[in-house]
Amino acid sequence: MATTGVREFKNYIAGEWVDAASGDTFESTSPADGEVIGTFPKSGPEDVDRAVEAAKAAYEEWRLVPAPKRGEILFRFAELLKEHKADLTELMTHEMGKVKAEAGGDVQEAIDMSYYMGGEGRRLFGHTTPSELRDKFNMSVRMPIGVVGVITPWNFPIAIPSWKIVPALVCGNTVVFKPATDTPSLGESFVELLTEAGIPAGVVNIVHGGGGAVGDRLVRHPDVPVITLTGSRETGVAVLEAAAENLKHVHLELGGKNGIIVMDDADLDLAVDGIIWSAFGTSGQRCTAASRVIAHEKIYDALQKRLVAAAEKMRLGPGWEDETDVGPVINAPALEKIHSYTEIGEGEGAKLLTGGEIATGNGLDKGFFYPPTIFADVEPDMRIAQEEIFGPTTALIPVTDFDEAIRVANGIRYGLSSSIFTQDVNRAFRAMRDLNSGITYINAGTIGAEVHLPFGGTKETGNGHREAGQAALDVFTEWKSVYVDYSATLQRAQIDNVE
Ligand code: NAD
Repeated sequence: MATTGVREFKNYIAGEWVDAASGDTFESTSPADGEVIGTFPKSGPEDVDRAVEAAKAAYEEWRLVPAPKRGEILFRFAELLKEHKADLTELMTHEMGKVKAEAGGDVQEAIDMSYYMGGEGRRLFGHTTPSELRDKFNMSVRMPIGVVGVITPWNFPIAIPSWKIVPALVCGNTVVFKPATDTPSLGESFVELLTEAGIPAGVVNIVHGGGGAVGDRLVRHPDVPVITLTGSRETGVAVLEAAAENLKHVHLELGGKNGIIVMDDADLDLAVDGIIWSAFGTSGQRCTAASRVIAHEKIYDALQKRLVAAAEKMRLGPGWEDETDVGPVINAPALEKIHSYTEIGEGEGAKLLTGGEIATGNGLDKGFFYPPTIFADVEPDMRIAQEEIFGPTTALIPVTDFDEAIRVANGIRYGLSSSIFTQDVNRAFRAMRDLNSGITYINAGTIGAEVHLPFGGTKETGNGHREAGQAALDVFTEWKSVYVDYSATLQRAQIDNVE
């Protein structure tokens, strides 16, 4: 089990821990202080091909293991995650940077998902339905598909792999997993625990390396019929194009530009807590982070003051320190991108209320720290109100009424999460109906998904699929309709019965 400290990691292919064919390696370092977490194989297409071959061979046996038995392995996996929750949490504060409570939550989500999907081993319900003919039985059943290529980002380094790998396995598929190069050690720990839980050799394989070399080969490999990717919109488009040639099933969970509406009748203390948690939790690096606050003009000034006061109390620091509220952002390019949006916002004429400078002093210059940053007087079509920044920056947009609030909330290319603070039940129900997003919260921020509900977004956040809940099963199975005729005669279906 990996904890902190430099260690040499390997790929896991066909039940063996192996180096990249090229022998090349890369390092994973902490965004908080540059500490080297470990070295990893810098893999290429040849390594992907070996992993796919192993997963394809293992599929022929794994698909025949009864689903309840597959589920039992996942229950053991959940137990192991629980046992190792503290080490994984600590490792995550170092490798990814999020604060302890959030890192623990990331692991907890994988525990919950593994129990939920383990239980699916005894469900995986299909349908029976009457036949139009006598002495005939009809049913539809879920069938596994084959090798699933799993490509994940760094921001939920244990939870997101669980959303994909665990349902893929219970449905009877095998997996080749490419974790993000910023969090390979957590990806590796995930696979180590799966093997300890009893996943047979070849059923889950991990190949470390970049999107271009490893991810792209996985997406194009003819023996990988399903690709599940969580990442940026740009990567989603590239993956969809690359997968088109083989008409693969592609499941995409992409970006967001989530907005919180605060109406004039809202409980303002509650709204401030919800906004602070949603905008600055995980340093704003959640796909569901609130990067827009759409506020009714009557409470706009009061809300600004309270938000600034709350944001300025937040303490920046390494995620492993108990007093830290806001950890580092993931890497130097992310820090530059976040800061460039501050310059863009100022250039567009928005008013910077707080934050907006790269944090230094108190050891923060060893890592990539950016303070909670709030812009006011933002117009809905400004770039800071339209583009995903993926950092601790949020934009306050004043509106005059409910209808305008909904229009502004929906006026973006993405459709992941949305929220409204109001005490008016009629407005709340209209918002549930009219906000165009995959997730809507009433009197809560934009974050806080539970594993047994579908997770994903409308519009350019994805391509119509959902993960988590029962919806995930649709990504990892195909329906088969089965007709059993016990009449001992050739009965034609109604369409063929021409008399
Ligand atoms: P990213 O798109 O840069 O990378 C995601 C993964 O794709 C990585 O493993 C990367 O190596 C791989 N990749 C990159 N190019 C590829 C290619 N051409 N072919 C195959 N694989 C390729 O994203 P990131 O920076 O790691 O994560 C942040 C993004 O993820 C944000 O846009 C965020 O909104 C999104 N995200 C979405 C959700 C969701 O559920 N909707 C959840 C978390 C994060």
